[in-house]
Amino acid sequence: MSEFNRSASSKRMRNIVALGKKYSRTAFPNPTREGCPSRSSLRAMANRDRRLTLKDLPVSHVVSCSNCFREYTRFRRMSVLVRGIKITAALVVLAAALVAGRFAWNYTNRRGEPSISHEQRTVPESPVANTQRPPLIAPFPIQIDLASFSPTRGDDTKDDSRHAIHLPQKLLRANLLLPVGLEPGEYAIRLQDSAGTILIDQPASGHMKDGITSVEIDIDLSVAQRGSFTLMIRPPGLSWRRFPVVIE
Ligand SMILES: [Zn+2]
Repeated sequence: MSEFNRSASSKRMRNIVALGKKYSRTAFPNPTREGCPSRSSLRAMANRDRRLTLKDLPVSHVVSCSNCFREYTRFRRMSVLVRGIKITAALVVLAAALVAGRFAWNYTNRRGEPSISHEQRTVPESPVANTQRPPLIAPFPIQIDLASFSPTRGDDTKDDSRHAIHLPQKLLRANLLLPVGLEPGEYAIRLQDSAGTILIDQPASGHMKDGITSVEIDIDLSVAQRGSFTLMIRPPGLSWRRFPVVIE
């Protein structure tokens, strides 16, 4: 059916409805249903079946048969209702698709955001973290009293090997109470493994308090192997003192 025919058909249909309104539904009674088209024809007409041409539609009969007119208007109402439901359903599906699409779009965008927001969140704070904030893992404070070890000279550690200093496998803030006789000043601290590899080598200041010289130093043993080590302390202007250490 061409566009022209379809619009002509629609116009004709509207005329039928107008006629139906103009004449009563009982203006053309046809109790014996003489010459009436099949219900499927009426339904096709009501449904505006595009496969049917205007000639196929029993228009002239419907406008002159109250029974068919009533049937037609009933089919027509159903058709409009069904089409309305279909349109509503289609709109619901479309709306759902739009919502889903929007949700997916938001989800994708949000998934893309964390790296940006993470950057925005951490970058301005990192200088602060370096200067003002404590390290992520607070050092474990520990006091190591080396006073029980008599100061020795040179590399002889045989006498001290019986008294190992036991240290936990953590980031330590060690306060080393130095053996009697050691003076305040710049110390060097080393941690050496049994193979002689120096794991830690850093300077530290010795301070005198109540007649005892102490050195505070952060020693990160969190990544150190468990086992025997040697803590080496060199007082200012003197040779290394060695203390056996067991990391456990
Ligand atoms: Zn009829």
